[in-house]
Amino acid sequence: MKKLAILGATGSIGTSTLSVCRSNPELYTISLLVASKSVDKMLILCLEFKPTYVAMSCPVATAELAVKLKAENCPSLLLNDETELLQLLGSAEIDSVMAAIVGGAGLKTTLASVEAGKEVFLANKESLVMSGQLFIDAVKKSGTKLWPVDSEHNAIYQALSPRLQNRLGHCSLQAEGVSKILLTGSGGPFLNKPLSEFSTITPAQAVKHPNWSMGQKISIDSATMMNKGLEYIEARWLFNASREQLQVIIHPQSVIHSMVQYIDGSVIAQMGNPDMRIPIAYVMGGEKRINSGASNLDFFSTPELSFLPPDFERYPCLKLAIDACYQGQHATTTLNAVNEVAVDAFLDKKIQFPQISQLVDSVLQQTATQHVGSIEQLLEIDRQAKNMALQIIKRDFLC
Ligand code: NAD
Ligand code: MG
Repeated sequence: MKKLAILGATGSIGTSTLSVCRSNPELYTISLLVASKSVDKMLILCLEFKPTYVAMSCPVATAELAVKLKAENCPSLLLNDETELLQLLGSAEIDSVMAAIVGGAGLKTTLASVEAGKEVFLANKESLVMSGQLFIDAVKKSGTKLWPVDSEHNAIYQALSPRLQNRLGHCSLQAEGVSKILLTGSGGPFLNKPLSEFSTITPAQAVKHPNWSMGQKISIDSATMMNKGLEYIEARWLFNASREQLQVIIHPQSVIHSMVQYIDGSVIAQMGNPDMRIPIAYVMGGEKRINSGASNLDFFSTPELSFLPPDFERYPCLKLAIDACYQGQHATTTLNAVNEVAVDAFLDKKIQFPQISQLVDSVLQQTATQHVGSIEQLLEIDRQAKNMALQIIKRDFLC
């Protein structure tokens, strides 16, 4: 049995991961569960899964959980801080890591798992967007096995040859006859909404994805299509793809989760119901297909499949992300940082929906090109970009 750590255990991906664990109890023991503040959810998980270790990033939540674990006589050991967490991730107590913390907050733990050579199931796309080449270099150096969990990247991975699958980040698509990676996205809840109504969009409307049930941030990112932009950058790094080898296609039904086109004209697509337990079961099963708990696609009740090119006027965040991808690491780190601030501000009703892209654009325009050679430098860019975004919100955007 492999020893599994779930970073972001109380979230949407964490919940789906634990559901796959429940369906396949012989595969993994739960060694570590990590979350931020949701003490009651974590307590329930500790009582059911009895992880050897548990950690909360918020000190107040850590203290609260300590009291509750004791009251319930739960044997899980509660870690005190991030230093203990990073140490544990590097130890023999853990074989595999589900990296499912949301946002840049997941960078340190995901990277620590990669550097320690653990098998990494990568859901936390923001860490790869933030650190790109540094992340891929770390994967190569440690020789870790990296598995894409994001449904699109998982679909692409499934459509690639084992030679490419085993060389993520430094494979040659061309040498294997791949002509294009076709990254599909539904277009989110506002695919057909008149642009004139965008400034009245509420957080409640924006988190309501037509096909997928996900955490709050990724749901807003799906509505702006920043999510597809982050995934474009993620695909660029995972599959070592050039601009000519990457294309975004709107596919509103979310039946196809992405495709790979080969030079002979063949296109291989992965299909299934929109349920993250499918890609999660794929990576957790490793070389073997396992039961995910998801229902099968019913072809006779599936609507007609349609495909559209993305409209950048409707989805300016997607255009900003694609442009940032070719401007360099400083740009993608900045884009990700500002987007996190913008999404929070929109959810707090401090800015309007169209101001998410305006804020990202504004900070990117004021950011000087620079070479990024270390994680420290990258975290500084992230900090500065977030500060600038907060200042702009205060000065120009408060609604
Ligand atoms: P979520 O908001 O539902 O859950 C986030 C989890 O991270 C929670 O357990 C939370 O407690 C934890 N967390 C937040 N900040 C933390 C910190 N500083 N330290 C430790 N834990 C922290 O998010 P989600 O939808 O599950 O998404 C998680 C990641 O997976 C994101 O990067 C997202 O882009 C990616 N992803 C999600 C889906 C999906 O269907 N939900 C699909 C593809 C990729
Ligand atoms: Mg995705």
